[in-house]
Amino acid sequence: MAWRIITHRCGHRERINVDGTYVVVEQRVRRAEESLCASCAGNISRRDNMLAGFCTLLGSKDQCDRAEPIRMRVLNQVEVLASHARIEDRDAFRELRRQVLCRDDAAWWIEHRNDAVTILAQDIEL
Ligand SMILES: [Zn+2]
Repeated sequence: MAWRIITHRCGHRERINVDGTYVVVEQRVRRAEESLCASCAGNISRRDNMLAGFCTLLGSKDQCDRAEPIRMRVLNQVEVLASHARIEDRDAFRELRRQVLCRDDAAWWIEHRNDAVTILAQDIEL
């Protein structure tokens, strides 16, 4: 495996994999250089998520950094669904939103990054 040290937009350096065709590698390097490192992205998500009313996540720093953007995306999904919900379902969506805000296990968010809404909705019988 070939590696290159790149500098992210935030100034932090990271070793990234540069296996692949020239075009793919160049795009991968450019994308990494234009983005924040995982830690800085996690810090920004954490601040935004506190403002949105999320509880503090529990888990390792790395897990929390990865989980913050996931639960923000899930909250956005819930709000889109809620805005299209029938009047009689509004209470259920309010409860679903509350559960998204209160779920504090970072590892749970990572495990359920693609099905969190479904899992939570099953529990409250939406
Ligand atoms: Zn950084």
